[in-house]
Amino acid sequence: MHAIVIGGGIGGLAAAVGLHRVGWTVTVLEKAPEFGDVGAGISLWPNALRCLDELGVDLGDRLAPQQEGGFRDPRGRRIARYDGAEFERRHGRPLGAIHRRDLIAALRNAVPAESLKTGTEVIEAGEDGLVRFTGGELRADLVVAADGIHSRVRHALFPDHPEPVYAGSTAFRGVAHHPGARLSTSFGRGIEIGVLPLTGGDVYWWISSVAEPGARPVDLEKTFGDWHEPIPALLAATPPEAVLHHDLYYLGTPLGTFTRGRIALLGDAAHAMPPFLGQGGCQAIEDAVVLAHTMSTEDNVKAALESYDRQRRPRSQKVVRESVRMGRLGPQLTNPVATGLRTALLKVLPAKATARAGAGITGWRPPRLPRPVPPRTP
Ligand SMILES: Cc1cc2nc3c(=O)[nH]c(=O)nc-3n(C[C@H](O)[C@H](O)[C@H](O)COP(=O)(O)OP(=O)(O)OC[C@H]3O[C@@H](n4cnc5c(N)ncnc54)[C@H](O)[C@@H]3O)c2cc1C
Repeated sequence: MHAIVIGGGIGGLAAAVGLHRVGWTVTVLEKAPEFGDVGAGISLWPNALRCLDELGVDLGDRLAPQQEGGFRDPRGRRIARYDGAEFERRHGRPLGAIHRRDLIAALRNAVPAESLKTGTEVIEAGEDGLVRFTGGELRADLVVAADGIHSRVRHALFPDHPEPVYAGSTAFRGVAHHPGARLSTSFGRGIEIGVLPLTGGDVYWWISSVAEPGARPVDLEKTFGDWHEPIPALLAATPPEAVLHHDLYYLGTPLGTFTRGRIALLGDAAHAMPPFLGQGGCQAIEDAVVLAHTMSTEDNVKAALESYDRQRRPRSQKVVRESVRMGRLGPQLTNPVATGLRTALLKVLPAKATARAGAGITGWRPPRLPRPVPPRTP
């Protein structure tokens, strides 16, 4: 069986790993000249880490487990403690952080090199499995459209479906070298600043700020220079040209199906969400394992795609809704009374409760994929 995967981001590569793992021949078509992702970190929750285990993807010592941390106000006063030990006890895995470059490299290494084609833009994907791209066309038993939030395939399949909507905040991200930094999330009015240690003394930081879409980027060092350390130090240590700035969009109207004919939508193409729960990439990795599982357990592609849609749509769309809700209740609050209430509520929250929050999402367990057949010894 042959699958074409459109898009070589986290979702597309994870899908390729899963399908290869259950015995499919896979071709990944990526329009960019190289596989890669933006120069930032990503948080991986236990639901995604368990999927990566199932896919046989080894992140090795590139994954930074997050043990202790907490929520702070802009002056650095701790509002609530995050109990990493309790979190790990509950889930069997800690919250992990990794540079996106390293995650992409680990996924890519789990797929045969001959399966990966860069500099290849898909122009059209037919429900019958015919895919046209720059320089040729291919037919496959399954087409996985993992072409991101502005998915061309989704648009062609569902031309009347509303396009992604603005989430109300803009985001800045970067990676700086700052050994000794600890996990923290700090809230101001309409602002969230996250600090997530990676390995080797590197630190991933992000800022989300309520803003009009298309607003000009602010001078970060000036705007956040009076926030607590290490925030000013991290901003100063990040070259301005390496700072990523994106307005946040999500698929506000849920799709009625993730599949059409031989095509499966996966990752942001199917359920783009705002990043307030750090779950967009994690959900794409979940999609990949479920797709590989259905393709290896159902009798035919049609039945497998029906099962994929049944399993993935309700869950991922719930995570979209929860992400939107989390943004509104947390980082996007601007009213001083509401932000004061948020601080008061967080202050009375026991550390163990912060470790329990969102367990319905992070506690998810993937289906078991059939074990790969070991090579026969003569
Ligand atoms: C500020 C921010 C912070 C985030 N933080 C987290 C986090 O901490 N944890 C988390 O899990 N998620 C996080 N996310 C979400 C996560 O980044 C996305 O959900 C994830 O990257 C989606 O992966 P994807 O493969 O579906 O799409 P993408 O990463 O968008 O990949 C799509 C790929 O398809 C390619 N492509 C597009 N069109 C074509 C075409 N026609 N032909 C060929 N190739 C094509 C693109 O070049 C791209 O490589 C965050 C997002 C943002 C914006």
